[in-house]
Amino acid sequence: MDKYEILKKYFGYDTFRNAQEILIDSILDGKDTLGIMPTGAGKSLCYQIPALMLGGITLVISPLISLMKDQVGSLNQAGIHAAFLNSSLTMNQYYKALGFARQGRYPIIYVAPERLVTDEFLDFALHSSIVMVAVDEAHCVSQWGQDFRPSYLKIIEFIDRLPKRPVVSAFTATATKEVREDIIDLLQMQSPTVMTTGFDRENLYFGVMAVKDRYASIRNYLDVHRGDSGIVYCLTRKQVEEVCERLATDGFSVTRYHAGLSDEERKKNQEDFIYDRAAVMISTNAFGMGIDKSNVRFVLHYGMPKNLESYYQEAGRAGRDGEAAECILYYHGRDVVTNQFLIEHSQDSQDLDPAVMGIIRERDQQRLKKMTFYCFTNDCLRDYILKYFGEYRGNYCGNCSNCLTQFEETDVTEIARALIGCVESSNQRYGTTVIVDTVHGASTAKIKNYRMNENPYYGSLAKIPVYRIRQVLNYLQMEDYLLVTNDDYAVVKLARRFKEILKEGKPLLMKLAKDTERAAKAERPGGKEGKRDVLSEGRDEGLFEKLRALRTEIAKEEKVPPYIVFSDKTLTHMCIVKPGNKQQMLSVTGVGEYKYEKYGERFLACIRANQAK
Ligand code: ADP
Ligand code: MG
Ligand code: ZN
Repeated sequence: MDKYEILKKYFGYDTFRNAQEILIDSILDGKDTLGIMPTGAGKSLCYQIPALMLGGITLVISPLISLMKDQVGSLNQAGIHAAFLNSSLTMNQYYKALGFARQGRYPIIYVAPERLVTDEFLDFALHSSIVMVAVDEAHCVSQWGQDFRPSYLKIIEFIDRLPKRPVVSAFTATATKEVREDIIDLLQMQSPTVMTTGFDRENLYFGVMAVKDRYASIRNYLDVHRGDSGIVYCLTRKQVEEVCERLATDGFSVTRYHAGLSDEERKKNQEDFIYDRAAVMISTNAFGMGIDKSNVRFVLHYGMPKNLESYYQEAGRAGRDGEAAECILYYHGRDVVTNQFLIEHSQDSQDLDPAVMGIIRERDQQRLKKMTFYCFTNDCLRDYILKYFGEYRGNYCGNCSNCLTQFEETDVTEIARALIGCVESSNQRYGTTVIVDTVHGASTAKIKNYRMNENPYYGSLAKIPVYRIRQVLNYLQMEDYLLVTNDDYAVVKLARRFKEILKEGKPLLMKLAKDTERAAKAERPGGKEGKRDVLSEGRDEGLFEKLRALRTEIAKEEKVPPYIVFSDKTLTHMCIVKPGNKQQMLSVTGVGEYKYEKYGERFLACIRANQAK
């Protein structure tokens, strides 16, 4: 079978996505291959398809047990023999699986990196034909990455011991140069084909909301999206507990996940979410790597993460099936302080020497700044993210909260001059609150204490609302007129361009949302009127619900998550095509021959019964 036939027969898809084919061909040519693609782009197929064509055993190295189980489950559902070898198996199960592996029963075997150089495993590997080692989540090998796993360093030790060097392929969603170079070096990849695909995820809507009551906003969002599966990321364990409890009390189907829970509870909650028994997962960033749940319809951030890498990775867990999904960040000024604290007290790089640690801290502060600017910008959010990852393109996407808001150029020179003047005249000693309170003319104890009520700019912006003053203050930071120091005091200082406004009298224009639009913007993401997917627009909801129920029933029988039986996208497509026979059913995206044999008739019957009434 060629790669197209395999794609159709086992996975039920008609075409490859852009980079997949190049990566697959490179592997089939026997070249080392590195694929850098965003979450949901379809990296797994890039090593799974060649694995079926190379005529030996492919070992897939993967960092998480849950991920292996999921992937192997999917492959088995598609009719491909695969197994995993990790610590979740009992001794008995492990030896049994290894026994089948020796007989050559599995073309694809998922292995935990720490197993590789154990005696039993080496004995198996030395007596088998290992044709490829595919390293998934390859950024785990790099100390620069956020998920460094020392056990990943064993991979090369293992490869070195094999009698014949296999093809080495590696895949990650982390795009930075340092990480990419580390992967190539540490895995000793030999003149690899490197393919980076566009980082854009067109089906994702991006939004930033600065709201007073985050809880209320999120609750409203969940209310309008009842029945949809989603994730709410919180910054701390405590926040997870609070938000989860309140939502549960308010009658939502939620579960929770963070590193402080027992192993059993984490496992149970994760499965409840994956099997659609709980609609919404409330979690810290500990949740998600390796979760391939394809029907996550929204990812909300109850607070700003520490950098855009994390944000994009977490948000990217929405809409893996390619259907429309929403990623909304609910921002609050305090998030910066919380993150600063997390960076200062990070345990991640404890065993590094102080100099390196200093560099890493500084880098983290810079990243946090860029993340903060994402929350302030009035330009296209998608464009902001893509630029951060080094991609340049148009600055209007039409599917983010900024592109959907009407802005007008507003002259903010007066506000800017007062703010910069206030900072200068008070000798760059105070934080943002004191500065804003001074120009606004507040009479707090602090202001009097610091004698800021005697400052020449005191009360000069008394008529301007505080939120507007803060917006301009943020903008001044983004544009390099002012800066806020990274230390504990967060003092506002003059930055490179301050003179342009204060001394040279240049005007400052800023894009601001039209006031009438503000209300509309705040409403939008919660409402159904937002841009939903074109595909799901015309679908017959009654039929969709019936197909979904049938999917749940089958998933229970098979003991797999529902989306592994068929994705939401496949069900939606069925509702549109309304197949009446086998051939039509096979034209539905995601329906391969093997799955057709197993469930095709039942879905056909369901569609027929629906037509008949
Ligand atoms: P990644 O590992 O890059 O995050 P996955 O390999 O988990 O992504 O794939 C994400 C989703 O995309 C899966 O549901 C997968 O079945 C689907 N997919 C992959 N390749 C294709 C394709 N060529 N056509 C349609 N769907 C695809
Ligand atoms: Mg993956
Ligand atoms: Zn946009």
